[in-house]
Amino acid sequence: MNQTSYIGRFAPSPSGPLHMGSLVTALGSFLQAKVNNGKWLLRIDDIDPPRIMAGAIESIQVTLKAHGLIWDDDVILQSQNSQYYEHILSQLSRQNLLYPCECTRAQIKAIGEFYSGTCRDKKQIQAPYSLRIKNQFNISQINDVRLGQLEVNSNATQEDFIVRRKDGLYAYHLASVADDINLGVTEIVRGEDLITATACQWALFKTLGKALPQCLHLPLVRSADGRKFSKQNHAPALNLNKTEENLIIALDHLNLPVPKHIPQQTQAILDWAIQAWADSTP
Ligand SMILES: [Zn+2]
Repeated sequence: MNQTSYIGRFAPSPSGPLHMGSLVTALGSFLQAKVNNGKWLLRIDDIDPPRIMAGAIESIQVTLKAHGLIWDDDVILQSQNSQYYEHILSQLSRQNLLYPCECTRAQIKAIGEFYSGTCRDKKQIQAPYSLRIKNQFNISQINDVRLGQLEVNSNATQEDFIVRRKDGLYAYHLASVADDINLGVTEIVRGEDLITATACQWALFKTLGKALPQCLHLPLVRSADGRKFSKQNHAPALNLNKTEENLIIALDHLNLPVPKHIPQQTQAILDWAIQAWADSTP
């Protein structure tokens, strides 16, 4: 890879404070950017106002800094990028690749879990509608930097997914891809729970005629009962009085156990981790 052009990002949604699962993702994407002498951007995915927790945008930044994870450039707020999302939507519309869909979740489920294109050829739409993309690519394989060639067996990658929701908000896939294009992101590092999302997003990159970035999916942090560690499952916020301990636990999840002789200081741990990550990746 070109040593100067790598651009990576960490893109949390401000629906709560960062927890151990988010620290693993932040750290994995940070290490990839450092090892590639690249930029590591912080993008806050705040496109869903009802899900934003008061104070979370600030607390995410405070938490990253406390762990020595300092991003490059200014923080990017997706809420500021509506104009660009509209630009992408109008481009898709001009290509006749969007259509309104009035189906409810219950109606889709009644037909069979995934969306089969019911509204593609409807002449008249009466109810409030979302916008769907005519998915021409149906990505079923992706090439992961860590995991190699992956088969993605999900109906979600076959369907015409939503790009603008009924409530007028931009959908995750649209905003994420638009910003990755706009920021020139060369590699997306995210959790394994988003492999299907990556496949959908690859279809959007291709529809827009853009080169695919690389992707690297990190192992998920699970709770004792095997569920994904997430805000929805009430994963506890990171304790900022234990940043060294947090980093050591996160590195353990990334298969980089920190040796005992490393000084228990965030910078020393990160310096060691960058070298160890470089040694462990192909
Ligand atoms: Zn529909």
